Amino acid sequence: MATPDDDRSTSTSDTSDTSDATATTATTSTTGDGATSTDFVRELVQRDLDEGTFGGRVQTRFPPEPNGYLHIGHAKAITLDFELAKEFGGICKLRFDDTNPETEEVSYVEGILADLAWLGYGVDDPVYASDYFGQLYDWAEYLITEGKAYVDDQDSETIREQRGGYGNPGVESPYRDRPPAESLDLFRRMRAGEFPDGSRVLRARIDMQHENMQLRDPVMYRIRRGHHHRTHDAWVIYPTYDWAHGQSDAIEGTTHSLCTLEFDSNRPLYDWYLEQLPLPGDQPRQTEFARLELTHTVTSKRKLAKLVADGIVDGWDDPRMPTLRGMRRRGYPASAIRDFCGFIGVARTNSRHQIELFESFVRTELNRTAQRRMAVLRPLRLSITNWPTDDDGNAVVEHFQVANNPENEADGTREVAFGGELWIDRDDFMVDPPKKFFRLAPGREVRLRGAYFVTASGYETDDEGNVTVVHATYDPETKGGSAPDGRKVKSTMHWVSAAHAVPATVALYERLFAAEVPGEATGDPLDDVDTDSRELLTDCRVEAALADTAPGEVVQFERLGYFAHDPREPMLFHRTVGLRDEWANIQKRQG
Ligand code: ATP
Ligand code: MG
Repeated sequence: MATPDDDRSTSTSDTSDTSDATATTATTSTTGDGATSTDFVRELVQRDLDEGTFGGRVQTRFPPEPNGYLHIGHAKAITLDFELAKEFGGICKLRFDDTNPETEEVSYVEGILADLAWLGYGVDDPVYASDYFGQLYDWAEYLITEGKAYVDDQDSETIREQRGGYGNPGVESPYRDRPPAESLDLFRRMRAGEFPDGSRVLRARIDMQHENMQLRDPVMYRIRRGHHHRTHDAWVIYPTYDWAHGQSDAIEGTTHSLCTLEFDSNRPLYDWYLEQLPLPGDQPRQTEFARLELTHTVTSKRKLAKLVADGIVDGWDDPRMPTLRGMRRRGYPASAIRDFCGFIGVARTNSRHQIELFESFVRTELNRTAQRRMAVLRPLRLSITNWPTDDDGNAVVEHFQVANNPENEADGTREVAFGGELWIDRDDFMVDPPKKFFRLAPGREVRLRGAYFVTASGYETDDEGNVTVVHATYDPETKGGSAPDGRKVKSTMHWVSAAHAVPATVALYERLFAAEVPGEATGDPLDDVDTDSRELLTDCRVEAALADTAPGEVVQFERLGYFAHDPREPMLFHRTVGLRDEWANIQKRQG
């Protein structure tokens, strides 16, 4: 079992960047309340504070687009933005980056709010880029009058071709030098809805030969008659990401605008826009950090949306999904996600972390908190032939007190019934066992956990030779699970009393993406989806106490792993994670 002190080196990156490793050693807690280590972003903020930049203020923002639900990658940005603000006595705003009417929905806004609250970052005063549509529009008019923006009558295809490429000169639009008054008139008429979708755009007038393509007269506004989830039909022109983002940051008073590395070539444009405008306050600064990537995992909303749309998974909260709602349903504790994000830290170089490392955080947390129960997934009857009957000829029932969680005495004990007819797992019995199989086999003695030693004396089969019942004798002297003569057994098995067990359905999961790096072979991560990654066991028998499991609660099925009770469907359990610390094994193998 992993402990917080384990030396978990963190990445499979093939780069030599050491920022991650530095963050790793600086983090001392994996069970605390999130990120507390230092890293290049925190150093930068500290320097700004020391130098009095931004007047000693720290303000960040987390800016999701409400076109899907949050995933584990977002969790990294969330913990960074919120924890950093907290650490430096600042604030973090949640801003919905809602500038694309076609793909955005109120249900995503609500889902993102709920997922954030679950993760530990509840927000009751979110803001929206669409709140600023008026100010953005006014600033656009200002840039036009300053000769820094113009209306282009060409279609988007032509504009794209004229942009050129690296070492490939850009071509200036024939409308680039049209008088500001003419652009202003056209822009106002664009807004008034006089022109069809896509017929004109507003572009910034920067430099068509700039080595950074983003600065080759980028588009600021497009005409789109989409119905917006908040502004409804008030607008038919919508700002682009680049035009909306930095200006929204400035309006809100953001000081440190943190985003992922792929935006680093947008930074000069971010700065350019801000430099042209009569800003009310300080000019915010964009800083980029590496995206979170995990093996066997896809962190692209677009790809995840496709899995949902194509019915490959049951929905955004399918327990195999790397979404916050999927992980929540799977039984991942929010604290484990926060701890993991804090542990990996932030760096400037992209790398891919092993999913097993993430799972070790889940396991560590659940080991501490989960109640232990017994569950038989593939039941095989075990009949104890020398089990006593009472005076009326009924089989005796015994009750054992079993610890709910040996890791936490305060969790107490529960009563588990034992009788002459039991269920054991089919995997735990073999007629003709190979050398290394130490569980039950004819003539062999094993311990039934917390109860008695039993010895298999025979078995019955059906016409096809499948074992249907195992016969066994028990040793009354071994009550509680140990023999007074000190004799040992090689195996302890879980069991449930046939007369007391309740039925349950258990979902077992393999990796949703079979490949370590989904899409590495073909370019499309969805090619690596394992459509067989769920196995549903509908005939399980579990101990009676499990009928009282709260919706969403995670328990440990002894010897089998951690299982989350479905939040909606009673007696459906999802395997969260197995018991074996695969991360420790990986590290051993890597020496
Ligand atoms: P996706 O590619 O999944 O759609 P996105 O960047 O388009 O992601 P947004 O909703 O725009 O999704 O992202 C909100 C914030 O979360 C952004 O600041 C973005 O940089 C950050 N973010 C998104 N994915 C990751 C990731 N894998 N690791 C870290 N931060 C991320
Ligand atoms: Mg985005």
